[in-house]
Amino acid sequence: MARLILNQLGKDFGTGRAAVSGFSLDVREGGFLALLGPSGCGKTTVLRMIAGFETPSDGSIHLGERLLADAAQSLPPEKRNMAMVFQSYALWPHMSVADNVGYPLKVRGISGDAYRAKVRDALGTVRLADYAERRPADLSGGQRQRVALARCLVTSPDVVLLDEPLANLDRHLKQEMEETFREFHQRSGATMIYVTHDQSEAMALATDVAVMSEGRLLQVAPPAEIYARPEGRIVGGLIGRGTIVTLPRAAGDSRAFDWQALEPMFAGAAVSTADGDRMDVLVRPEDAIVSCENIAAGAGIAATVESVLFEGERYALKLILADSQVLRAYSRFPVRTGDSLRLSVRAAWRL
Ligand code: ADP
Ligand code: MG
Repeated sequence: MARLILNQLGKDFGTGRAAVSGFSLDVREGGFLALLGPSGCGKTTVLRMIAGFETPSDGSIHLGERLLADAAQSLPPEKRNMAMVFQSYALWPHMSVADNVGYPLKVRGISGDAYRAKVRDALGTVRLADYAERRPADLSGGQRQRVALARCLVTSPDVVLLDEPLANLDRHLKQEMEETFREFHQRSGATMIYVTHDQSEAMALATDVAVMSEGRLLQVAPPAEIYARPEGRIVGGLIGRGTIVTLPRAAGDSRAFDWQALEPMFAGAAVSTADGDRMDVLVRPEDAIVSCENIAAGAGIAATVESVLFEGERYALKLILADSQVLRAYSRFPVRTGDSLRLSVRAAWRL
């Protein structure tokens, strides 16, 4: 096993716009990287180049010292020792779970005790040791997905590539499978790259999140760090449920700033700023606090409630500020559409 290194990777399908460009990424051995971005941004293309199903137009892919591909040469997929799990995890219905899992070993000519030991280990890793003789039809959706994982693990791949494997599952099963993927990663020790357009999935699963947009890599960081310090409007908009608000630029170079100093703007007071002297800030709903005290005291930023979504433990609000900008906030007490209220903002991030 070794580090996977993508250097200035590019892919142009000749459509007039490159699907992937200048994409450099270093995935450490045993790491679990989520590749996050909106549909059509080039995630699958990156994964297919790593797996060897597409040849890069530019740049290179190395696994440790070994060159896997560049614009001039490309190692075929079967020589890369990687496994790719797709959204649809086709299992053979007429074969037992054990035979499904062992199939890639048969193809490689492995049999006998070595075959049985590897199948048993792979099934143990996904906690299906007792299901070896069942048929796929007798299993739940989550168990079938675990069989597909065991099948990809059985050949001890250096890198496991997963392309939106949970996209078609309902929320409950999704949560169960997120647990399975995390455990799978811990037990197998494989380097994993997990493609998703779902930010909460990326944050929950991975040790590092790489955000891409329009073929380019924007930021790579551990989930907590990318949440706390998103770089730029696109990452800020993709991570968390925050809103981006444009404000006059504050003094100093700190990313966090004193919202109170900017409140007059939201209160409708004139704020004189030179053109270009504005900045975008990201406000997370958990940092925009609506409280009864605020309303009673007439303190805080004035806002009107545009819509309310009851989420059980709280109300998710879409607010309109005095200057017509939108801000998302949470409230613990019930409010109604059209209500006027006041809120305080605990923290915001400059983008
Ligand atoms: P994602 O997986 O993030 O949804 P893709 O990697 O599938 O994005 O696609 C990125 C872009 O490349 C899209 O604009 C898509 O239409 C284009 N694309 C992908 N595969 C091909 C192909 N084989 N030929 C031409 N264009 C392609
Ligand atoms: Mg895709």
